[in-house]
Amino acid sequence: MTDHKITIAIDGFSSTGKSTVAKQIAKELGYVYVDSGAMYRAITLYALRNSLITETSFDKESLIEKLSEIKLKFKFDENLGFAAIYLNDENVEDEIRQMKVSNFVSQVAAVPEVRVKLVQQQQLLGKEKAVVMDGRDIGTVVFPDAELKLFMTATAEERAKRRFKEMEEKGDKVKYDEVLKNVTERDHLDTTREDSPLIKADDAIEIDNSSLTLEEQFHTLLNLANEVIAKQK
Ligand code: C5P
Repeated sequence: MTDHKITIAIDGFSSTGKSTVAKQIAKELGYVYVDSGAMYRAITLYALRNSLITETSFDKESLIEKLSEIKLKFKFDENLGFAAIYLNDENVEDEIRQMKVSNFVSQVAAVPEVRVKLVQQQQLLGKEKAVVMDGRDIGTVVFPDAELKLFMTATAEERAKRRFKEMEEKGDKVKYDEVLKNVTERDHLDTTREDSPLIKADDAIEIDNSSLTLEEQFHTLLNLANEVIAKQK
């Protein structure tokens, strides 16, 4: 008997380790992993490169006009073990993680036209189910019918600590205070924006992972997924 395929939506605050656990679960279940944040980051990179957004200005109208020229694609990368994102055929997986992109992404993600474009693409990517997608509005807007919805939280300090360590290990020169500021600013912008703010779906299961190891978190989520899959039969 083949297992029923489900959709797993993982939402939550910045740097809660959503993508780490989403990748682990997708690999374990043989599902596709989609990082919806990477899509918002790639559009932000485009806006930065074309000076549509700067420290002092944001030309939303021009960005909206250019949206049809922005092509995003995911291609599986053997070395990474997951799909890297391509912006107009250029692999930008590394560049979109840099602080300069993190500092502007929540402003770009608040533009309704940007959200419409990306939500459509995300829904297409998940139309066959067997997908684990992480983001901010996956359980509320992108897949309101997802069989399993998770909402990840952890204290801002814990999240900044993890993100700082990750960036340091990659050789990025950042200060802890700068990372903490970015995390709290994005929390604020993501939860207060008018279009699709970050909120926990009524039927999402909240997981506070402040004091969970990666191993514990993975097994907690995998058990939840397996329970839901078993119930579909
Ligand atoms: O997941 P990640 O932290 O890479 O996402 C970057 C930003 O993209 C978030 O802070 C948020 O502003 C935006 N985002 C969003 N909706 C999603 C995924 C990400 O608004 N589904």
